[in-house]
Amino acid sequence: MRASQLLMPTLREVPAEAEVVSHQLLLRAGFIRKVAAGIYNILPLGWRVVRKIMQIIREEMDRQGGQEIMMPIVQPAELWQESGRWDVYGPELFRLKDRHGRDFCLAPTHEEIVTALVRQEVNSYRQLPLLLYQIQNKYRDERRPRFGLMRGREFIMKDLYSFDRDEAGLDISYQKMFTAYTRVFQRCGLRFRPVEADSGAIGGNVTHEFMVLAESGEALVVFCPREECGYAANVERAVSPPRREEAVEEARAVQLVSTPSMHTVTQVAAYLGVEPSRIIKTILFQTEKGTVAALVRGDREVNEVKLQRVLGVLRLEMADAEAVEEITGAAPGYAGPVGLKGVEVVADEEVTGMVNAVAGANKNDAHLLNVNPGRDFAPHRVADIRQVRAGDPCPRCGEALQEARGIEVGQIFKLGDKYSRALGAYYLDEYGQSRPIIMGCYGIGVTRTMAAAVEQNHDENGIIWPVPIAPYHVVVVPVNYREEAQAQLAEEVYRELLAAGIEVVLDDRPERAGVKFKDADLVGYPLRITVGARAVETRNLEVRYRATGETQEVPLEGLVSHVQEFIASAVRG
Ligand code: ATP
Ligand code: MG
Repeated sequence: MRASQLLMPTLREVPAEAEVVSHQLLLRAGFIRKVAAGIYNILPLGWRVVRKIMQIIREEMDRQGGQEIMMPIVQPAELWQESGRWDVYGPELFRLKDRHGRDFCLAPTHEEIVTALVRQEVNSYRQLPLLLYQIQNKYRDERRPRFGLMRGREFIMKDLYSFDRDEAGLDISYQKMFTAYTRVFQRCGLRFRPVEADSGAIGGNVTHEFMVLAESGEALVVFCPREECGYAANVERAVSPPRREEAVEEARAVQLVSTPSMHTVTQVAAYLGVEPSRIIKTILFQTEKGTVAALVRGDREVNEVKLQRVLGVLRLEMADAEAVEEITGAAPGYAGPVGLKGVEVVADEEVTGMVNAVAGANKNDAHLLNVNPGRDFAPHRVADIRQVRAGDPCPRCGEALQEARGIEVGQIFKLGDKYSRALGAYYLDEYGQSRPIIMGCYGIGVTRTMAAAVEQNHDENGIIWPVPIAPYHVVVVPVNYREEAQAQLAEEVYRELLAAGIEVVLDDRPERAGVKFKDADLVGYPLRITVGARAVETRNLEVRYRATGETQEVPLEGLVSHVQEFIASAVRG
């Protein structure tokens, strides 16, 4: 490809609307252009990256026996009503009407369509297991589309659905996809980690997320540093054994103390001279089932995902100051479980073991000393509602857990019979007995993976593509294209590389060398071959490696094999 012909509109300035590096660099390097919030054109370089990721995914899905199909994006409301999701999906679902006034939606995911297909076409155990997948646009009217391709309203997803006779079959399909996903992200050249995750609204309860590790990741994960152990989980899901107090002391009488203008655990702890871990933190939440008081030890945070799961509610929001005053009779910061009326009290497991604790008095500027759970208040429920953090013991081996940030690029779920029962997808087993098909679903965000690759692999000059998904492997840069000899040698190098089947761009634009070098770094070609006056003289070419910045002189005769070896060592099938 000749750069003079390539639609690669690079920008010098950092676009003001782009907050994260991947968004900035994909705009600046001319890979994407915005059409509307969360909706993008993908330009030639960007599309080459997307196609490479899709190709790797296809090969790994096919390797596990997946069959590629194509399902519609425009879907009738009836199927979504059958599954019950038409009403619960909420404003993320793009809804539309046809000319007859019938309701449709743009697919955010395809469980309904694929289950309806399978209920029609599969009726015997002999047709199972079945793995069906597609790679296609998805539509979600996200509350906050942002970060470019990271959270779009239109994005490309690979979604695979597995259909099995029973749970044992599902275990096998799930394991196949776990393997396939691991291979996909390895082959893309990314550093990643599969983690246990929360299954949220989609149903089922076994699920893993695949996280590309990057500082800018939205997700926080904890993991055990011992490789033989391997425990890793999204903090939304992570567990750790409760820490109990060691010193057992006599329960003393409750005492009211003044704590003027002390609103936070840190302030109260300092003022009273106690450790934060001796304080009961009381946080009020509103849910569709009423108000809830969540109690955790003062050095802990409430894990809202766990709390939501314990309560079985769809909506959970921290109560505002007005609601707190109405319920406790005091400003936020002074809520406590003793004498608290009209709310459900959920205590974390660690709270029940506390002795002579400090808690809010439900009075302004006051706390209680020597609060003893069981004696002074009785929670309605005791559960694990605390957030795990670095340093907590691993639930498997006890080692101190570590933290990392990640970008969720894929998720795999065991669904069980949720959709097959709702939509009536049954099969006849070998005894003629009708049984629900057991399902799993497995998604990879293709465009998000491209953005995640940039988040993980860049420097101040631009993108550093992992070789397997680079748009092109090589750029040939004549220092001065107007110099006849340089132009000729550059053309010769370009033709030889092309003839060898190497993905190469010749930067034949009439630009200064500095501009071309800057663009080469910004676009992130793994190799840059410079053709200057010295190369004309010596017929040795300077090869520069984008990832390390190192350069090497390579004679023209050995150039093709040098480049081929470099690519082969980085790209494995
Ligand atoms: P998130 O929690 O980030 O919203 P999700 O759990 O809703 O993701 P899934 O329904 O599991 O996502 O979709 C499968 C994959 O599709 C995700 O792992 C992610 O890589 C990608 N994905 C989901 N939503 C978006 C989006 N708005 N833009 C780009 N990719 C997305
Ligand atoms: Mg989502």
